[in-house]
Amino acid sequence: MKKEEKDLDSFKKALARKEKLVALLAPSFIADFDYPLIIYQLRARGFDKIVELTFGAKMINREYHKILKEQKDKLFISSVCPGVVETIRNKYPQYRKNLIPVLSPMTATAKICRKLYPKHKLVFISPCQFKKIETNQSEYVDFAIDYNELRKLFEENKEEINKKIKILKKKKTNKIGFDKFYNDYTKIYPLAGGLSKTAHLKQVLNPGEEVKIDGILEVEKFLQNPDKKVRFIDVTFCKGGCLGGPCVLNKNLPDKRKRLMKYLNYSKKEKIEENKKGLIRKAEGINFSKVY
Ligand code: SF4
Repeated sequence: MKKEEKDLDSFKKALARKEKLVALLAPSFIADFDYPLIIYQLRARGFDKIVELTFGAKMINREYHKILKEQKDKLFISSVCPGVVETIRNKYPQYRKNLIPVLSPMTATAKICRKLYPKHKLVFISPCQFKKIETNQSEYVDFAIDYNELRKLFEENKEEINKKIKILKKKKTNKIGFDKFYNDYTKIYPLAGGLSKTAHLKQVLNPGEEVKIDGILEVEKFLQNPDKKVRFIDVTFCKGGCLGGPCVLNKNLPDKRKRLMKYLNYSKKEKIEENKKGLIRKAEGINFSKVY
């Protein structure tokens, strides 16, 4: 059978066929969308399950911690941002071996979801086009749509969505929040340096051994003239991390940071059922490594 295309049209066809879909939502969504409204909107638009990427981030953080603790004689470059991965593949292939051999939070979450929802199709909702390249290379994610396409999808179906939201709100089901992986501290992942902060890398790296760089021009500057003391660079293609992604409409970085921190604090106070949290035992036996 021909492999299904992963473009927007194919996603819309899957939606029209009422296939069971899981939305994989990265915490950068909060830059442009409101929580919990987005959950209602996604459900009303036909998504069966909605999960947060934060659990995948937590799982890969553990891998980073382990690798950086055990392998002290090599420079490692974070591989969570496909913009950086593609730049290294195309312009600096000599650094390919330095990309840390771990999946991105998107693919890690998708791999866990494959186990939990084997019959569903997985849709990543993305702040950039690079995630579409990663999706096309991934056997775990079925589609990626960006924030602009999501906005359009909500806009085109506004009346129908609003009607369904009213019904959902009346029902008072337990389907208001995320279905799974409503983790808290890794919600700061889309900030520049969010990875190293949440992976507690200070425990395994000495001062001066770690550098955080956001913005591809700065990343390239480092690659052209690396500091030999540095063992790990936490890098993102976009200035400001994923909050600065090209499909994020809000261009006010302080405002986006404020919205993210508000969301983080809100989530800490929300009562979360155990089955909605990201529990490490749920991911036992899953291999999160990847060679770039
Ligand atoms: S930093 Fe930019 S290019 Fe990289 S994953 Fe985030 S939004 Fe995409």
